[in-house]
Amino acid sequence: MSFETASIPRVEGANASASASAAALTGPKLRVSGVSKRYGDVYALKESDLELRQGEFVTLLGPSGSGKTTLLMMIAGLVKPTSGDIWIDGRVATHQQPYERDVGMMFQSYALFPHMTVGENIAFPLKMKGALKERVREAVDEVLEQIKLPSVRNRFPAELSGGQQQRIALARSIVHRPSVVLMDEPLAALDKSLRTHMQMEIRQLQQELGITVLYVTHDQEEAMTMSDRICLMNEARIEQVAAPSELYFSPRTVFAAGFLGESNCLHGIVESVDGTTARVRHGGCLLEGRLMNAAKAGEACRLMVRPEAIRMVAGQRHADQAHGNAIPADVAAHVIGGAVSRTSLRTDSGVLLAATQLTTRSTAAPAGGVTVTFSAQDCLVFGAGA
Ligand code: ADP
Ligand code: MG
Repeated sequence: MSFETASIPRVEGANASASASAAALTGPKLRVSGVSKRYGDVYALKESDLELRQGEFVTLLGPSGSGKTTLLMMIAGLVKPTSGDIWIDGRVATHQQPYERDVGMMFQSYALFPHMTVGENIAFPLKMKGALKERVREAVDEVLEQIKLPSVRNRFPAELSGGQQQRIALARSIVHRPSVVLMDEPLAALDKSLRTHMQMEIRQLQQELGITVLYVTHDQEEAMTMSDRICLMNEARIEQVAAPSELYFSPRTVFAAGFLGESNCLHGIVESVDGTTARVRHGGCLLEGRLMNAAKAGEACRLMVRPEAIRMVAGQRHADQAHGNAIPADVAAHVIGGAVSRTSLRTDSGVLLAATQLTTRSTAAPAGGVTVTFSAQDCLVFGAGA
């Protein structure tokens, strides 16, 4: 198995960061301002803004082709922006060469140098910037301790397991203490259990050392587990930047609600709006939910409800407001999928809804006619603009 990492060394000496302006000490480690990238008529990234604070782990998450790698490559200096500026540690880096930028990189597709020992691989970024031999030795020793592999210094990459190689790749991306470490799907080639293990290891080391990381993945679970904040991308744009829980519970767009986790979608017409609460007519039901964007009475809208937020009341079929959000439905199917059980429900309006609940021995499988209920908090209303 081969992994890619290439660290881009700092040109300046080790004291360069100490002499950085005072703004660099308090300001963001990375700032992307109005950055776009156009290839011919097509935007790989539309004007985007993003800031990373010292010690933050931020993940670019989005479907394939949404612009994640393009944004990362522009920060690394490997792709030239069409517009906008990039600041690294308080300095404009937009026109700097890759090797002049204070970043480390860990990518899936660059292998470790096979003809170099582990020690030589890790030392590479330091040697590139002309660090003294003694300093290189110390830094390599220190980082090998940090990744808990002090004894593999003289081995060659082919003599290491996949997980060990990946840790060496990680060591090489941080050995020169860059302001920001950029990682593009570094775990995509690993099998599930090693990937889960490496996710924890990278996160732990990042927190221990206070490293600032911009990470790329298309795997929502990976993004949710590892990140302080997620930058959700879609069709060359940033959709929302938020902590994982905020993105999950308060997605600002239909795309965000659908991409992260699972959501049931119901169509309706806005009946009335009161602040952030909307009342919506769906078939014969009047439903109440949290309005996530601007919408006016009479407009079409969508309601998003997560399967785990749905409760089923057996043996009744209500659609009256006295019972809160209530939709009459019939149970179409029920399966125990392990810790979670899943019920498919067909509403009278013909929509198929999914409901999930923790599996318990005592609960009888739902059957026949039921009332589907959910709280107004768990019902997100999106107007046409979302
Ligand atoms: P992601 O990493 O999210 O999968 P990319 O940043 O690689 O997405 O690509 C974003 C979009 O830009 C895609 O539509 C891709 O085809 C396009 N793109 C990327 N690089 C180039 C290039 N060198 N020339 C033309 N189009 C490109
Ligand atoms: Mg990519």
